[in-house]
Amino acid sequence: MREFEKNIRKVEPYVPGEQPGEKVIKLNTNENPYPPAPGVRTALETMDTERLRLYPDPSAEALVRELSRFYKVDPSQVFVGVGSDDVLSMCFLTFFNSEKPILFPDITYSFYKVWAELYRIPYECPKLDENFRLVKEDYYRENGGVIFPNPNAPTALYEELSTVEDIIAHNRDVIVIIDEAYVDFAGPSAMELLDKYDNLLVVQTFSKARSMAGMRIGYAVGSPTLIKYLNDAKFSFNSYTMNQTSLICGVEAVKDQAYFEANLRKIIDTRQWAKGELQKLGFQFTDSKANFIFATHPDYDARELFEAMKEAGIYVRFWGSRRIEQYLRITVGTREEMETMFAFLRKYMKK
Ligand code: PMP
Repeated sequence: MREFEKNIRKVEPYVPGEQPGEKVIKLNTNENPYPPAPGVRTALETMDTERLRLYPDPSAEALVRELSRFYKVDPSQVFVGVGSDDVLSMCFLTFFNSEKPILFPDITYSFYKVWAELYRIPYECPKLDENFRLVKEDYYRENGGVIFPNPNAPTALYEELSTVEDIIAHNRDVIVIIDEAYVDFAGPSAMELLDKYDNLLVVQTFSKARSMAGMRIGYAVGSPTLIKYLNDAKFSFNSYTMNQTSLICGVEAVKDQAYFEANLRKIIDTRQWAKGELQKLGFQFTDSKANFIFATHPDYDARELFEAMKEAGIYVRFWGSRRIEQYLRITVGTREEMETMFAFLRKYMKK
């Protein structure tokens, strides 16, 4: 190693799912198969490009206001960022500065470990139980903060709010972050608990239920105090995180509640139907409450199946990591995309 390399920050980066260029059936990164709300298209078509000369509003006020209206909270309780990855990364930097380890499950969004390493935050990973459920008692021990997704990824399991509340209530001296990237497909949001717990922060995204992964918008909702600390960190990092286009389109997406709900309904219906089809083929899977299904097959090796599907132009996600080496994560696509996948699987399994 060269002398100068000793002082270089070395990180093992998060590996995102592939974004293949050619036409494939893409069920590997939990994107929404439907377009964003029509208002987003209109906003883009009628956008005043002259405005791009100028820096965007650093406080992202229009988007913050629209989100605060949607969630019936004060604008001082909303923080926005470039996808929830940006928001979560800022949260790690801002809230997890204890010498004690932060806690997140052993099987969860693999970016948490990457941020902990990047920022040199000690961490421990309590094991999910044999059914991939969170063991709430594991989060009663002393710690420097808690974070988990609900529903969890890649298990797709949703924990009832009573479980979430129990964990928050046992951790009043640290910040508890609930990553709700998939909550709209699942059940009640922990936002319901915000009035009771000033140590709670709820993080959500436009990437899944709002069909805008390409736009990169995420947000956190919490007490004005926590949001102020987040903004202080953001303004010490990059004032203009949200670009002008995202600000305009984000507002349009939030305004159209009817489209949002219809979009959710379609995905939930396809998910329920797809579970039945997977079952007919002999797959086993968790009770998915997200826009993806976490499945395993007793007779087929997950890696081989993943490779065969990829060869056929059907991309799903496979990690091969401990405890989940026999699992595939299949994003819920359109009914047609799923039909194509099932046709392939039937042929492959000669069923
Ligand atoms: N949290 C979880 C649990 C996720 O699965 C994802 C998607 N990879 C994210 C956060 C980040 O999503 P985005 O940055 O697109 O908002």
